[in-house]
Amino acid sequence: MNPLNTKFKRRGFLGAVGGGCAVISAAAYAGREMPVGNEGRPSMSHGGGPSVKKKNAAEGRLTQVTADVLVVGGGMAGVFAAVKAHDSGARVLLVDKGSVGRSGQTPFARGIFRFDEQDGMSREEYLRKTAEAAEYMNNPAYTGLLLDQSAAVVDELKSWGFFEEATYTKAMNKPLRERKIRVIERVMLTHLLEKDGRVAGAMGLYIDKNESIAIHAKSVILCTGASGFKPTGWQIGAQTADGDAMAYRIGAEISGKEWVDGHGGTNYGLEGKPMTTGSNTEEIRGMLGVEQNIEVEKNGPSAGGMMGPPGGGPPPGGRDSGERRGPPPDGDKMAGGPGGPPGGGHGGPPPGGKGGKGPIVIGGVSAGMSNHKAEGLFPQDDRCSSNIPGLYAAGDSLCSMQNGGIYTQVGSSLAGSGAQGALAGKTAARYAASVQEVRVTDEDLNLIRSDIYAPYLRERGFSPRWVTRTMQGVMIPNFILYVKSEERLQAALTYIEYIRDHQVPLLKADDLHELRLCHETANMVLNAEMKLRASLMRKESRGSHYREDYPERNDDEWLCWIKIRQDKDGNMETVKHPVPAV
Ligand SMILES: Cc1cc2nc3c(=O)[nH]c(=O)nc-3n(C[C@H](O)[C@H](O)[C@H](O)COP(=O)(O)OP(=O)(O)OC[C@H]3O[C@@H](n4cnc5c(N)ncnc54)[C@H](O)[C@@H]3O)c2cc1C
Repeated sequence: MNPLNTKFKRRGFLGAVGGGCAVISAAAYAGREMPVGNEGRPSMSHGGGPSVKKKNAAEGRLTQVTADVLVVGGGMAGVFAAVKAHDSGARVLLVDKGSVGRSGQTPFARGIFRFDEQDGMSREEYLRKTAEAAEYMNNPAYTGLLLDQSAAVVDELKSWGFFEEATYTKAMNKPLRERKIRVIERVMLTHLLEKDGRVAGAMGLYIDKNESIAIHAKSVILCTGASGFKPTGWQIGAQTADGDAMAYRIGAEISGKEWVDGHGGTNYGLEGKPMTTGSNTEEIRGMLGVEQNIEVEKNGPSAGGMMGPPGGGPPPGGRDSGERRGPPPDGDKMAGGPGGPPGGGHGGPPPGGKGGKGPIVIGGVSAGMSNHKAEGLFPQDDRCSSNIPGLYAAGDSLCSMQNGGIYTQVGSSLAGSGAQGALAGKTAARYAASVQEVRVTDEDLNLIRSDIYAPYLRERGFSPRWVTRTMQGVMIPNFILYVKSEERLQAALTYIEYIRDHQVPLLKADDLHELRLCHETANMVLNAEMKLRASLMRKESRGSHYREDYPERNDDEWLCWIKIRQDKDGNMETVKHPVPAV
């Protein structure tokens, strides 16, 4: 049986150890009177984790808390979700494996899109252009949400002081503190709780102490951000598809895995100029990297060009490729502007012959990172709902297809995360108010806890770093991730299946930090399998998905999204879902 594909009740996905070891303590949830938690403020040093004797791991505390709405992730989507769920009357708890305003992608973004018809483009025209640029893969409900709500998001961010701060830490925490919304940081959630076909909360581990946590919640909003394979070029090392993996394992539908982010590895465009927002979409389009990868695959790197090594690209903290352009300008400059027409008319399959002039780093830089808003939980409606009652997603962990399967509007990622977070918060609060709490039994909690700690108690096995490197070697080459063909995808899938079946069940952690890495590695391997299966299924080229054996777009067969889920035997299946008519 595939250990990754079944629900926790039927297996331990990392190989369960004996249960019955938890000491359950009730740290009752005290609602809005409680101060913002910020528990275990990060030392930001991952020098091996705290020294906890392994034998104690099985005896550590299991804290239990309750909430109406659990928000997982404290980036742009998560903060908006928490604020709006609270303002709708819910008792909210926000949990982040890093810290609010400092983790995820949000701290790195510098430009935000605000739609205003006064800037010269009507709503209708914008929707039409987005559909064309997205080659009809976008979801008009979420493109419309962006247009209708981006101004409100920008205004709210202004009131938090967002545009006055370089790092956003104070601004993102401000609305949480004002409302006394409880926040727990440095906790990685690893499992969603499920009871009677509904989501019932989540469970995970404290990164800095020998303690796990079970959160009983009527609804859960996943705001866990994008997924990637821990590249060093972009600062997305913690975006390891945790939300997708947790949701998939309890039966949720995931989508958008064939699309790829193709940001190049330099801060400069093909003409050697900084990338610009606004109407200069030609440069933006060049920076998407799709054409770069194809060009280098066909003709080799140009003089001075580089192939990105696995996990490669510039060193962390070095120059990045995207929208981060110097110090943040003041509010209006940053937030203003029409943003230009979407997409720059990326119609038809990606051309093969548009090479860059200067040195270009390809592949690996943002390796495996989801195309913003094009990957994650498949929404069943226009209110961020999944197919699991009570489970919602927003931001980069919702496959909203706001822009389609290619990045068609600079600055829309931040605004979209805010708009979707706000919507999901209101929807989840309404749902929570309409249902009774269902509680997972202590026996089940103990089983999950055993699963969480299994790698830590294992005497022999594979280090998560080694398994991650092996997986990166398979997935990151541009001839797998960006320029695809049946044989190579199939070959890569064979390797990933091997890692899934023979290495993930033997992941071994020497300390609590490595324990977190084990869970992230397992999630990335699952994500790799999803990306390969979806890429194999889509036998055409469209948006950021390029198949050299199917270089043309094929509307007759592929005007659809691909959903990924478990079949009745727990194996991964991929199915087509028609896109709404424009
Ligand atoms: C370098 C760079 C530049 C960018 N520039 C721009 C720009 O100029 N304009 C723009 O619009 N967009 C930009 N983007 C994209 C934009 O930043 C993202 O689309 C947006 O911030 C996503 O917000 P989010 O809330 O969905 O996710 P994130 O901000 O990524 O937040 C996700 C949060 O979830 C937490 N988390 C994940 N897994 C778990 C778990 N298992 N348990 C607990 N917590 C978890 C993470 O720690 C993180 O805090 C840029 C991205 C990067 C990397």
